[in-house]
Amino acid sequence: MTSGAKLITFHKTLAGCEAGNPESWRAFLGDYTPVVFQLVDVYLPLLREGRARLGEETLLALAANNFERLRSFDHQAEREFLADLRSFLLERGATKLEPAEDITRAPKPAPDTVDALLQGLPLIHQEILFLKLAGYSDGTLEKMLRITPAIAQRGLERLQADYSAVLKKDRDACLWPAAWLELLAHARSAKSADCPPLRHFVRILDGQTSWYEKEPIEKHVGLCLHCLERWTALRELIYWRRGVERLPETEVNALVSRLSLRAQAKKEKPFLKRVWGA
Ligand SMILES: [Zn+2]
Repeated sequence: MTSGAKLITFHKTLAGCEAGNPESWRAFLGDYTPVVFQLVDVYLPLLREGRARLGEETLLALAANNFERLRSFDHQAEREFLADLRSFLLERGATKLEPAEDITRAPKPAPDTVDALLQGLPLIHQEILFLKLAGYSDGTLEKMLRITPAIAQRGLERLQADYSAVLKKDRDACLWPAAWLELLAHARSAKSADCPPLRHFVRILDGQTSWYEKEPIEKHVGLCLHCLERWTALRELIYWRRGVERLPETEVNALVSRLSLRAQAKKEKPFLKRVWGA
């Protein structure tokens, strides 16, 4: 499918979801639930047993009040939309974590310590370091950022002293979910007037910009925790969206039916009317 056709499909699916069309919800859930599950595995590993439940809760929250939350997300294109979905999921997930369950054999990453670790590094090394603290294994990082093991290791040098716990992991899972999600929330709230729109990041990551255009933006990202958070979020969303299989139809159908059943329980008539033509 061309990128233009993909964009049309994305807009049609979203419009259908907001109109309560079950076919659109099937397409939506089939494509995006596996991405949600991957994010839960990385950022909320202690909920691993309950990821289906968090996925379902998130879905119901998107659909509540005539899809109010879904409508509030960026509709420009799929990546921007997924970035909003990711923030929404992580904000909800953060409320379910116990800080006491974070590991204690390393200092918890806080904004000032992470800023100090990132200071002065080239952007690629900042990405490696940030995503490593988030919980990614070397193998996943190398594929996600398309880098060699040697470059990955150079990006990790500053972690040797205090954060060796995150090095040499072979599973993608955060070691301090509560502290990290708090840090991400801090980064998301630290937006300044100089922060470029997400669309510019998407264009750079798609190779659609000249060096002239991208140089000042990449420089800003290297100095701004808010933008580094959004930039690395796009990196992981692009990676997971491409890398995961569609959700099996039986699971899609189960989710769609739960959506309507819950909606019925809450008497969300506009949705039911559209689903059942009642
Ligand atoms: Zn910024």
